[in-house]
Amino acid sequence: MAMTACNECRNEISTTAKACPKCGAIVPRAKIWPWLIVVPVVLVIAMTIYGASIPKYEIEAGKVREACEQIAAYDQKYICDAQYDEAIRKGEAESNN
Ligand SMILES: [Zn+2]
Repeated sequence: MAMTACNECRNEISTTAKACPKCGAIVPRAKIWPWLIVVPVVLVIAMTIYGASIPKYEIEAGKVREACEQIAAYDQKYICDAQYDEAIRKGEAESNN
């Protein structure tokens, strides 16, 4: 059982105690748990908004470049960049129709 000090009288009390047994002061609950819910929810919402803002063709173009870079030699990476640019141009042209 973890112990903590009372905010009022500094008496050592259990972290599970609702009130200090010596002075009767209410022990504030550690407010960590709301963050365990709030932070992941906010992250998921932010990532959803961010993910939705990326056009599909841009994601596809990124995959094309990634696949290219895995097989291309170091001095041939510019080919992958060109493929990426080409895929972006194509996607932009299609999305404008
Ligand atoms: Zn106390």
